[in-house]
Amino acid sequence: MTSQDEFSDAQQLADWDREHVWHAFTQMQDYEPLIVTHASGCVLTDIEGRELIDGVSSVWCNVHGHRHPVIDSAIREQLNKVAHVTSLGMSNPTTIELARRLAEITPDGLEHTFFSGDGASSVEVALKMAFQYWHQREDPRPQKNTYIALGSAYHGDTLGSVSVGGVARFHEMFEPLLFNVIRVDNPNTYRLPEGVSATDATAYYLDKLESTLATHHQQVAAMVIEPLVQGAAGLIMQPEGYLRGVRELTRKYDVLLIADEVAVGFGRTGKMFACEHESVNPDIMCLAKGLTGGYLAMSATIATTEIWNTFLGSGLKTFYHGHTYAGNPLAAAAALATLDIFHDEATLENVATRSQELREALETRIASHPLVGNIRQRGLIAAIELVADKATKDPLNATLGTGYKVCQAALDKGVWLRPLRDTLVIMPPLSINQQQLQQIVDAVDYGLNQL
Ligand SMILES: *Cc1c(COP(=O)(O)O)cnc(C)c1O
Repeated sequence: MTSQDEFSDAQQLADWDREHVWHAFTQMQDYEPLIVTHASGCVLTDIEGRELIDGVSSVWCNVHGHRHPVIDSAIREQLNKVAHVTSLGMSNPTTIELARRLAEITPDGLEHTFFSGDGASSVEVALKMAFQYWHQREDPRPQKNTYIALGSAYHGDTLGSVSVGGVARFHEMFEPLLFNVIRVDNPNTYRLPEGVSATDATAYYLDKLESTLATHHQQVAAMVIEPLVQGAAGLIMQPEGYLRGVRELTRKYDVLLIADEVAVGFGRTGKMFACEHESVNPDIMCLAKGLTGGYLAMSATIATTEIWNTFLGSGLKTFYHGHTYAGNPLAAAAALATLDIFHDEATLENVATRSQELREALETRIASHPLVGNIRQRGLIAAIELVADKATKDPLNATLGTGYKVCQAALDKGVWLRPLRDTLVIMPPLSINQQQLQQIVDAVDYGLNQL
């Protein structure tokens, strides 16, 4: 192909992209195609041959880099056996092995994995499971038919997961379609209510939760939470001890705890699962994004034996829920390889080293910028919240698209980032190296200076 052909090819694809592909969370009128043709490690290559560091892990799911040889060959090997086996009354060795491994590595008590295809479904499944559990356990409590969720929560985009979600700009439109949930204030260590200091934040929010539980626990089947970091809300981080307190209170008031680790699971926060930071054993855990290393669509809802046992028996005790491609063996093969790499490449050690470097770089290079109101970080999740006024923490006018502009400028420095409004997100693959991480910080610095 001549370069002229390549150009028109790119042009043609961009036109078709605009015309025929309806992109997620994207205003299509303004959409500027960015077409990736291949990738390797932490670098994406677009159709014009431009190389970009994947600064947000292809939106929070890539773990060990793209085209990892171990994951690639695990999928190929599985392809030589069988591409799909239904999970409706049938099984296959790869998916069995994955369920066993998940039981081994997740917090104590979680033993039984229900597979589905994406994070939203894993939450949907957890909500239904919790509901049905109260109906059919030995001492039934069918009046427990609602949920507690945090303000600004994000649990996916199906109607059940939107019901427990609380991000106004995503969820408001669908209000009439949603079921009611009990909403509690979400801890936000940057924007604490007046009179609440950082040291009493945990106690303050747990007190509020306890009074809600004391009033409503008879009606509450489960509390659902994104442990430690509320992702799509803007990477809002919880104060130390909050998650542990939530576990203690939900136990005290006989409410199930659903930990949505879709974003924070698989090493992101520095431990395999965020719940481990506070020694929390949830009743149900939801996993998705990193599960297959960012390769294939698969999610998992993992429940305790106590819950599982109530579904054993005849007829209506069955969990009548399922997805055609649930437990897909190609995805399971990718997931098993992903878990092996954690061990073989000492991934969590890399996260520890890199996150420390990132912390220092952000502190010395980014924090003093006049628009940077807050930098917060948990492992390889870093948020840079831009504000109009550092002292008052007043947000920027969202219509200015400041966060987006910084990320557009970062492209010139070979880094791809996707902000959450005016919060810049740095969430690279866990395999990122020192030099690439530095390049991301350079690009953010450059982007901020272009404003
Ligand atoms: C992304 C996300 C989901 C939804 O996962 P999908 O695979 O996009 O459906 C659910 N919960 C959390 C915390 C997430 O970050």
